[in-house]
Amino acid sequence: NGPLNLAGGIAGASLPTKGCTERPVLRERGQREVFCGLTGIVWLHRKIQDAFFLVVGSRTCAHLMQSAAGVMIFAEPRFATAVMEERDLAGLADANEELDIAVTRLIERRPDIKMLFLVGSCPSEVIKLDLSRAAARLSERYAPDVRILNYSGSGIETTFTQGEDNCLAALVPQLPEVETAAPQLLVVGALADVVEDQFARLFDAMGIDDVRFLPPRRARDLPPVGASTRYLLAQPFLGETARVLEQRGASRIAAPFPLGAEGTTLWLKAAADAFGVDPMRFRSATAAAEARAKRALEPFRAELSGRSIFFFPDSQLEIPLARMLSRELGMQLTEVGTPYLHRQHLAEELALLPGDVQLSEGQDVDRQLDRARAARPDISVCGLGLANPLEMEGLTTKWSIELLFTPIQGYEQAGDLAGLFARPLDRKTRLRV
Ligand code: SF4
Repeated sequence: NGPLNLAGGIAGASLPTKGCTERPVLRERGQREVFCGLTGIVWLHRKIQDAFFLVVGSRTCAHLMQSAAGVMIFAEPRFATAVMEERDLAGLADANEELDIAVTRLIERRPDIKMLFLVGSCPSEVIKLDLSRAAARLSERYAPDVRILNYSGSGIETTFTQGEDNCLAALVPQLPEVETAAPQLLVVGALADVVEDQFARLFDAMGIDDVRFLPPRRARDLPPVGASTRYLLAQPFLGETARVLEQRGASRIAAPFPLGAEGTTLWLKAAADAFGVDPMRFRSATAAAEARAKRALEPFRAELSGRSIFFFPDSQLEIPLARMLSRELGMQLTEVGTPYLHRQHLAEELALLPGDVQLSEGQDVDRQLDRARAARPDISVCGLGLANPLEMEGLTTKWSIELLFTPIQGYEQAGDLAGLFARPLDRKTRLRV
């Protein structure tokens, strides 16, 4: 355990099997090398501007948060770790009592906090500290000024983007009931504010005016949900959030994800069709931005076309990225690994991938390293722990976590997204020169 969570497993059978997508998928069940779900706090705390994330964990968790987010010396940070000492872990101290004291101190000192997430970790789960009861108990004390929720960011058997999924799923029971039978659109998944604003303008130009986003920017702006809610996933790793939204009556609009010019058009078009937008109006709302995105991709296509790329399973963004890089930039997909393949949510993406692409689900890091070494792709997309060793072996890498920290969705970001893949190759060429 630690910033690099090495969860051991059984070396798995790897015969290609046919999933319900009718594509062969190599299933890997071996050693994994990924960040844990605490990492999501780094982008979530920027998104919900009056929320605070209190990790209930060990010094290792605190180190992970510090190194992933950088040490904030000048700003009042909106995340922290309530460090469990050996006394807590050995059951010698009442961890609930200590947690109450830490939360009281925090809320008294920080009246700007309107939503507090108690974030579970491996150590809090090992000693079975019930954070849902702690959240309910503390909510009684601090409601309605501060809403207190909990979710797990633990690294056992998870991927780092599942932290966001767990966080949003914890928000869903808090959403108010929708009060109209008229359909409303709910865009689900943390997007940079600039991207969210662009999408809001595009939906408005199409005539879809009741559009809300989850997570909201402020705790008081929780979007309503109910049977008339149609939701559109902006991120591919939100399986649990989607499940609980459907329990509240919402229905999903099936679509590829908004990466690249084509992906963004298809994503917006799925919403437009669900809301009965006239095709001419859709074209006039999107045509100029789509053309700008295509123009921005052009120089990168010249650089990246024909280059090979290997995806290690890490972020769950791999399949939409692979689709965009192969269809819009002409890259060759050597292997596309994903920690978990949600066949329903990714059905539209899988249909757009080249027929012969090697897909893999789950991780067996040594076997995947062997395949990457044998293929010697032009670029490997992987977690931070694998990047340095691969670079040492002369393979060019891209950190997958960067794709979560950078605004990459939508038309205006299509060129930036392509640039993220062109830059490491460019750097390598310059170093050689
Ligand atoms: Fe390590 Fe678990 Fe803490 Fe993550 S939650 S930093 S994997 S101990």
